Amino acid sequence: MAVIAALLLSPDQGLPVPDPAAAARVIADRFTPAELSQAGDYRSWGRLIGVATLITQFAALGFLAFWRGGPMRRMLERLGRRPLVGAQAVGAGISLVLALVDLPFNVAAWKLGRDYGLISQALGPRLFDWLLSALITMVPAALGALIAMALWRRLRGRFWIAASALIAVWAVVTTWLWPVVVAPIFNDFEPLPAGPARSEVLRLADRAGVEVGEVYVVDASRRSSTVNAYVNGIGSSKRVVIYDNAIRDLTPAEFSALIAHELGHVEADDLRRGLTFALLVIPLGVLFVQMATGAVMCRNGDDPRGPALVPVLALWMTLAVFVLQVPGNALSRQVEAKADRFSVSLTGDPQGLVDLQVGLAKANLSDVDPPSLWQFLFGTHPSTLDRIAIAEGAKVSVRNES
Ligand SMILES: [Zn+2]
Repeated sequence: MAVIAALLLSPDQGLPVPDPAAAARVIADRFTPAELSQAGDYRSWGRLIGVATLITQFAALGFLAFWRGGPMRRMLERLGRRPLVGAQAVGAGISLVLALVDLPFNVAAWKLGRDYGLISQALGPRLFDWLLSALITMVPAALGALIAMALWRRLRGRFWIAASALIAVWAVVTTWLWPVVVAPIFNDFEPLPAGPARSEVLRLADRAGVEVGEVYVVDASRRSSTVNAYVNGIGSSKRVVIYDNAIRDLTPAEFSALIAHELGHVEADDLRRGLTFALLVIPLGVLFVQMATGAVMCRNGDDPRGPALVPVLALWMTLAVFVLQVPGNALSRQVEAKADRFSVSLTGDPQGLVDLQVGLAKANLSDVDPPSLWQFLFGTHPSTLDRIAIAEGAKVSVRNES
């Protein structure tokens, strides 16, 4: 108890030092070579599909931004007669093109997941989800294009200030509304019924002294066998969401470690931290987008007040998001490591966290030690190896202090 209290009261002094050697031993003990190579194959194919998707999306956007052949020129000219309506059509069109370009990779990812027993959804419902999200995405794309066009025509050099402010408001509002409006379109969310799972969540929340909001269970098993839980929403929509798979498949110690990790996010207000990071980098990104867009439109000979703005803007915005995600992911990995340390300090059971990481890696076919460039660019969480190292390190500090 003293260890837990000390860790809780002085997280800086109590920080366990990760133990990578112990983590490597855990992995050698708990995974068979066959399991490791199966997960490695699955993830290699997954990375290949991911990179191919990214390259194709950028190629499509680059084509729309730079190609000014006859048909494109005529279409932009026709749409330019009513630029605000034209911009909406172009915005929705780009969103549709990107969804269509994504379709073969989406099906490939589905096939891969089915082959490795990770995806339970049949192809029909998967395509229905794809269609639904393609249609839904067209709405904000059209709206965004309309607003961008109106601001660009009115403000020019000061476009980035107004656009940054609007994107910031959009980020806050979607964080608030996503769990209540969008997520329920794709899944069923039920308040977690009374029982051992709910009691454990409330017990840990009470011990951590955090206000969790409502606790929901989501029917994730409808799509896949992956195990997870997450915290989202802000203010009145704040909630902890647990996959039904997690309640069904995890041992009590693993379940406690998972919930304590999520409570770590609530306690440290990590959603707000993520939003703050976004709000800080958005103006920087939008200023770059404005300058690059102006330069390309000038080079293309586009009407500076016409809807040709939209594809050029879309290309640079996508690039800016991609680049800014790299430091964003670095922050996310730190936040996740901190939530893991919080989990150990709350449950006082590092072994529960080790077992959870081993179980998650097996159930989700995670690459326990992914290529470092991939991890640097896309890793939102520390690797399984690093997370086990954190838990093993915590064991050493629990032993030393007791
Ligand atoms: Zn987390």
